[in-house]
Amino acid sequence: MTEPLLHLALRVEQDIFLVRQRGREVAAAVGLEHQDQVRIATALSEVARELLHGVDGADVTFALDRDAAGRQVLQVDLAPLRPLPGERYEPQSGAVARLVDTLRVVAVEGDTVVRMSRRVPDHAGELTAERAAELRAELAERAPGSALDELAAQNAQLIAALDEVRSQRDELAVLNSELQETNRGVMALYNQLTEELEETNRGVVALYAELDEKSAQLRAASESKSRFLANVSHELRAPVTAIIGLARLLADSASDPLTGEQARQVGLIRSSAGDLLGLVNELLDLAKAESGRIEPDWSDVDLRAVFGQLRGTLRALASRPEVELVVEEPPAPATLRSDEVLLAQVLRNLLHNGLKFTERGEVRLRAERRGEQWTLSVTDTGVGIPPELRERVFEEFYQVPGTTRVGGTGLGLPYARRLVTLLGGTLELTSEPGRGSTFTVVLPAGGA
Ligand code: ADP
Repeated sequence: MTEPLLHLALRVEQDIFLVRQRGREVAAAVGLEHQDQVRIATALSEVARELLHGVDGADVTFALDRDAAGRQVLQVDLAPLRPLPGERYEPQSGAVARLVDTLRVVAVEGDTVVRMSRRVPDHAGELTAERAAELRAELAERAPGSALDELAAQNAQLIAALDEVRSQRDELAVLNSELQETNRGVMALYNQLTEELEETNRGVVALYAELDEKSAQLRAASESKSRFLANVSHELRAPVTAIIGLARLLADSASDPLTGEQARQVGLIRSSAGDLLGLVNELLDLAKAESGRIEPDWSDVDLRAVFGQLRGTLRALASRPEVELVVEEPPAPATLRSDEVLLAQVLRNLLHNGLKFTERGEVRLRAERRGEQWTLSVTDTGVGIPPELRERVFEEFYQVPGTTRVGGTGLGLPYARRLVTLLGGTLELTSEPGRGSTFTVVLPAGGA
């Protein structure tokens, strides 16, 4: 429902002021904010000026209406005295349309009317028909001021607007300089970070180069160690074998008889030379394994046969009655793809160690198939190995302090691990000092 509030005639120049002034009053009366009052008054005077010059004037009607969303709006219709050219109207300044919510040409009862509207804020309250009647009466009573009054009012509004613009500009300048300051800070930080990053990058690159160099050196050192071990052991083997042979000759009954003391000394020479030969042979094996000169001879290995053989050969070693050697029967089908000789060598070595380091209880060999893997474990109830030495015993020549009296070279475990690796598996150790150790060989059933 449209509630008309006020009619005005726009005919002469002075009426522009009148329309402006009355426009502001109506806007105030219906509850528009101060800024909005100035906005709608300004838009109205601009449109009024253009219509006066373009179509000789208009009839102006202020009314209350509702927009599409049902909200109250103040609506001003300017019905031109002569038809608008092309029935169109476009304000000269695009800014005018932005002062109000809508500004467009509409058809009212066959006439073309320029209509503008501005939303009335909700807090202005409901403007009922009675309230509209009251407003109409109030506005009709109010005597229109002179053009000079309106000019003064307009001037005051202009000054206020200018002041606001100036303070906004000052604020903007402050913000701008703050922004520039922040920008400079960010750039400085960015540059510093970039520099630090580059510095770090250079460091990392240098470190990598050093690492590469070190690993090349290590590889070279390891190769020359293997070569040295192989050469020395090879060279030692012939004279040691000769010593053993000569000692045997000396002790032979066909040679000149020896005194008791001489026979004892020759015996010592023979057994020392035998130990030396054992060491030399082990060194040679290890050097060979390390230099990759051992090629596994792959075949289908029957674990039952291997276990049976070990049971037979090692029984002789288990000389203590307090220690039982148990070689369990592997579950069928007990085959895997491997090198029988190398595998037997590894297991013999582990069983031998178990027997050496166990005073009472048992040493047990067991095989278990888990999926595509065979787990072969040697468990003993011997002295055990302290946790911190569990990896060290796989280093060459390392022997746990206090265990050396049982003999050995410290080369058996590193060699065993090498062989297991060659066979595509792993050799690990779990142990509890005083309770025993378990060495576990895990091998792929299908070979490496
Ligand atoms: P070796 O037995 O000839 O000394 P190994 O390399 O076979 O050399 O073993 C290294 C060391 O690991 C041994 O000297 C011993 O201290 C320890 N060790 C190996 N097997 C066992 C075991 N079953 N129980 C306790 N200690 C062991």
